[in-house]
Amino acid sequence: MGGFFGVASKESCTFDLFFGTDYHSHLGTRRAGMAVYGEHGFRKAIHSIENSPFRTKFEKELEYLEGNMGIGSISDFEAQPIFVRSHHGSFAITTVSKINNIDEIVDDILKGSTHFFEMSNGEINPTELVAALINQKENLIDGIKYALETIDGSLSLLLLTPMGIYAARDKMGRTPIVLGKKQDARCACFESFSYLNLGYEDDRELGPGEIAVITADGVKTLVAPGDQKKVCTFLWVYYGYPAASYEGVNVEEMRYNCGKLLARRDNIDVDVVAGVPDSGTAHAVGYANESGIPFSRPFIKYTPTWPRSFMPTIQTKRDLIAHMKLLPVHDLIKDKRLLLIDDSIVRGTQLRETTEFLYESGAKEVHIRPACPPLLFGCKYLNFSRSKSEMELIARVVINELEGREVTEPEVLEEYANPDSDKYQKMVDRICEKLNFTSLRYHRLDDMLESVGINPEHLCTYCWNGKE
Ligand code: SF4
Repeated sequence: MGGFFGVASKESCTFDLFFGTDYHSHLGTRRAGMAVYGEHGFRKAIHSIENSPFRTKFEKELEYLEGNMGIGSISDFEAQPIFVRSHHGSFAITTVSKINNIDEIVDDILKGSTHFFEMSNGEINPTELVAALINQKENLIDGIKYALETIDGSLSLLLLTPMGIYAARDKMGRTPIVLGKKQDARCACFESFSYLNLGYEDDRELGPGEIAVITADGVKTLVAPGDQKKVCTFLWVYYGYPAASYEGVNVEEMRYNCGKLLARRDNIDVDVVAGVPDSGTAHAVGYANESGIPFSRPFIKYTPTWPRSFMPTIQTKRDLIAHMKLLPVHDLIKDKRLLLIDDSIVRGTQLRETTEFLYESGAKEVHIRPACPPLLFGCKYLNFSRSKSEMELIARVVINELEGREVTEPEVLEEYANPDSDKYQKMVDRICEKLNFTSLRYHRLDDMLESVGINPEHLCTYCWNGKE
């Protein structure tokens, strides 16, 4: 996916920018960058972070990256921030986006006989495309508004100018922008915890579609937020870091609630409750606290040399690394009836391997409780690295098997999404059998939304029920 951090300060911003951006490292695996503006003008650096962490790559450049305003990026895809010189003047821009209509936009802009630089994989840099959209309009604010409206998918951005940092949140608020403040400095970022150790306190979140300009003196709204909101629910279930909060709801706490509600509907007799690290662990704590069944950690994550959430972009390599990171504790597995909570089941391959491994290590039973409902639709709003095609999702594979054809009709999928339907139960039973679990019970959508606790109308649930 990706994340960003921006800071405007009366003093040097470099220290805050460096650590603030680094605290977004769990959101991306490929590229990172920092751009600053100060008495030397604009300066920037971009590095690959595929094989070494952000701090290692940038610490040698901190003297060069001196300035009092800056933006930093962690990206799963394109190199950014990029510098742009246009009729708006010079600026640097970073985005968190997924652009589904990239080809139409490119064709449209190319009619005006401009050009785009291709990245090494032959694709257009989405951040450059956003900059080109912004440059279509007379002034910067209209340009940013135009970019937010034109993009099918999602877009949040930070744009650094000599006058201040413009922050614009996705028009449906799918991804967050949080503001922090301290004396003589303001910041804007994806993850709210990223500024806490830097002395900032919470200010507020931008609303959906809101555009604001940030200077060291304060934040001024230039375009008011809209009233429709669809925040990604997966941020709480899986993506977000435990210390983060979105819409005022902390990730770790939501996961405890999730586990609690899972336990309330369950009546299984097991010896221990465990979670698949990292996010499954918090869901399992909630389950164990509610059910009274002891919590244990039959898997321990090896973190010293695997500090990052994701590593390579190739699925098979990612699976291998996910496996290598988890160390089993045989004494906690042997002869035990285990209830294991994972955040979700995507393709099912990893969880099947984990389960096999538990049986081989002497587990008597392995009961699986995913912390969200079956995934039926591929996300079209965020650049997820987890599943590329919705036909790879285990629930869709099984639905196709049960129906004997490739199912795409929304009304049929809707029946499978309904936890009170026979079709749903058949699908769950088949997944359970295929992946060789002792039992399988998914979280219900209504319970999951209740675990977040905000107005469900404000939450995106597309990947579970196909509702936009
Ligand atoms: S479809 Fe799912 S993953 Fe994508 S934004 Fe919506 S809730 Fe998040």
